[in-house]
Amino acid sequence: MRAVLEVDLNAIRANWRALSVAPETGAVVKADAYGLGLTPVAQALARGGATSFFVAQVEEGVALRTALGAGPEITVFSGLMQAQDAALFRDYALVPCLNSIEQCVDFATYLGGQPFGLQYDSGMNRLGLEAQDLAHLPDLGTPRLIMSHLSCSDEPSHPQSAAQLAAFVEMAPQGRRSLSATGGTLLGPDYHFDITRPGIGMYGGMPFAAAQPVVTLSLPVIQVRDVQVGESVGYGAHWIAQRPSRIATVSSGYADGLIRALSGGATLWAGDMPCPLAGRVSMDLMGVDVTDLPHVPQMLDILGPHQGIDALADAAGTIGYEILTSLGTRYARHYVG
Ligand SMILES: *Cc1c(COP(=O)(O)O)cnc(C)c1O
Repeated sequence: MRAVLEVDLNAIRANWRALSVAPETGAVVKADAYGLGLTPVAQALARGGATSFFVAQVEEGVALRTALGAGPEITVFSGLMQAQDAALFRDYALVPCLNSIEQCVDFATYLGGQPFGLQYDSGMNRLGLEAQDLAHLPDLGTPRLIMSHLSCSDEPSHPQSAAQLAAFVEMAPQGRRSLSATGGTLLGPDYHFDITRPGIGMYGGMPFAAAQPVVTLSLPVIQVRDVQVGESVGYGAHWIAQRPSRIATVSSGYADGLIRALSGGATLWAGDMPCPLAGRVSMDLMGVDVTDLPHVPQMLDILGPHQGIDALADAAGTIGYEILTSLGTRYARHYVG
């Protein structure tokens, strides 16, 4: 019996619709749709009305075009990284987001006349053209999109967002513009421009506090044992029974993306009953203290109505994005909707 990851495609679509406040709303499906499955997620969003998609890498764009067929616009954030990729952009009708003068020159050489976007660096210093680069670009025609990315949009009061907004407007006074991911979308209409690029909010994560939950992850119980006071559980003999205890061993561990940093902090759920993790997370297994349950069910939930991706992330000192994109390949994946 395998652990079951259930993905609610209706919830993803509802979250995308709820975030659709700009003239146009794209959908970011990089990293296998944040670990939830590129093909089913992108097809569900396309059925729900999304027509512009964003990925990080050209190979993801190829997979996405194969899933969606002709029609939807697919933009690749990393742009034209090497000349050998030019054929992929052309053959799969992918729009590279050009990030440097070198990328612009290569684009003119290998893909001149094809659609392209430009990414401007408005202050994150991660990817994109700087203001002083703009005078030195080859003549490529009109970009399909001019975008930039905010570094602190998950903190509404952070002054960095307003500074980046001003820098973006100065660098890009006109054109089809895009500045905001989920966080920026929630900062208000000044940040919307022509098209937004939500990712995490569609998948039920912060900073979209009103998001519908998208994932449920249920782990099968392999074995149950009773331990006496003073006996230990798991690697390092770290957890020691303070009372006569019942321990369920569930089948999933850090190889499934339930990262080791969850040790000591996470809770699993039997319906409404919380059951704390007992001992360290191992590669394929973890111990759960089920002493307080009247009977031990076949499955215990680690993601669900009582504990979403951000709550689980908090237990490990990380963010919901990392929990989602770490989810492993060994789950049985059920798509609903
Ligand atoms: C990942 C990414 C997004 C989506 O960000 P979320 O915070 O998940 O909404 C948008 N734009 C760029 C450039 C990205 O890298």
